Amino acid sequence: MTDLLRQSAAEIEAVQNARLRHMLSLCARGHDHYRRKWREAAIDPTLVHTVHDLPLLGLTQKGELMAEPEAFRLRVPELPLEQRAVWEVIHTTGSTGDPTPIYTTTHDYHAYLFQARRVADISGITDRDVIANLFPLTPAPMGAFMRTSANAFASGAAVVAALSGAPHGAFDVHRSLDDAVRLVERHRATLLWGVTSFVRRVLLRAAELGADFTSLRMCAVTGEASSPAMREELRQRMRALAARDSIVFDRYGSTEIGGLAQCRQDGDWHNPAPEILHLEAVDAETGAALPDGVRGALSITHLDRRGTVLLRFLVGDTVAVERSACPHCGRAGERVVGPVVRTKDLIKVKGMLINPDLLLATLPTVEGLDEFQVVVQRLDPSDPFSMDELLVRVATIGADTDALARRVVACTVGAIGVRPRVEFVAAAEIYDPLKQAKLRRFVDLR
Ligand SMILES: [Zn+2]
Repeated sequence: MTDLLRQSAAEIEAVQNARLRHMLSLCARGHDHYRRKWREAAIDPTLVHTVHDLPLLGLTQKGELMAEPEAFRLRVPELPLEQRAVWEVIHTTGSTGDPTPIYTTTHDYHAYLFQARRVADISGITDRDVIANLFPLTPAPMGAFMRTSANAFASGAAVVAALSGAPHGAFDVHRSLDDAVRLVERHRATLLWGVTSFVRRVLLRAAELGADFTSLRMCAVTGEASSPAMREELRQRMRALAARDSIVFDRYGSTEIGGLAQCRQDGDWHNPAPEILHLEAVDAETGAALPDGVRGALSITHLDRRGTVLLRFLVGDTVAVERSACPHCGRAGERVVGPVVRTKDLIKVKGMLINPDLLLATLPTVEGLDEFQVVVQRLDPSDPFSMDELLVRVATIGADTDALARRVVACTVGAIGVRPRVEFVAAAEIYDPLKQAKLRRFVDLR
């Protein structure tokens, strides 16, 4: 198969245009949400011949997907089994607190393997690598964890999983941080694959335990914004462990996009598979496509999907998009140029996207809780790269504190999926009515 990334921009666009027309014809047959939207807005999808016509379709907001994820599934009974069978359902966290299911058919799983093989090629992952999956085992299946194996399969690498994360469920399958360190050492892992702050914790613990990490050559990190200073600190820790190399691959992507790829550290992010994905920066108000290099809202369009299909979907990040060949590696196709700024009113805590308002709205329902405050802070305040801690400060008059703490933890996990530490304080510490100070229910100290 020819590598489309080595073709001209015009050739890439011709492939994208043909795939787009077919995708839209399938949506016109069997995508409930877009059929209804097009009918109501008098949009004629047959007028969209090229990616330049995409603004005719308007934009898709994340809220539309979260409101009715089932309506975003393509349902065309005549398609072959591989394009209809559900291979897996992964979930993306959103502001409703309920994760949104993204349906992946066999066809889409193959497309992801194809995309992951390109990512491996661009970012230098090979069939000699051993990947340690350090993503947490979460209550709903998250793309980052689920897709690690697909990334290994696609490149021919080996993969092991630490099964980290906050324990839940009846079977006691989660493992500890120390277990993760020993797993990396035992399998001579070459790649650590996980949420930035947890990967860092593994490196720190490896140093404390004197673990042999000399096989390590790359940390592929994602899930939370990582600054250049933090990535440099990761490199220093890898060097201190006498790692074989100290590459930090800053993975950018999402459940809806899959993974994009950097051809060099701190570089732009290539769209590794323009055959199946189209990226544009748009004006979020008007829906207009913006010229190359102009920053706007990142909008993605699936060109060849059969499960959940999204057209001009606003990911929630502000970026610029470039279509010229990469000055570093020469590959064509869209590139996302940072900095990536999250425009959502969601915040990341311990690598999870949460909506603080949802928690604030739910906590007052906890019996025996008189006053409360939610604090996000660094676990170690003196360490600028420390992991996050979610703290719920609680005041009560007369309730059993152990039982109340359990109720607060259960409520918080139920609302946003993050386990908090609970601290009991006097009500006046949270809100002093004599001072008439404004009550701050949510404080982010990071
Ligand atoms: Zn490049």
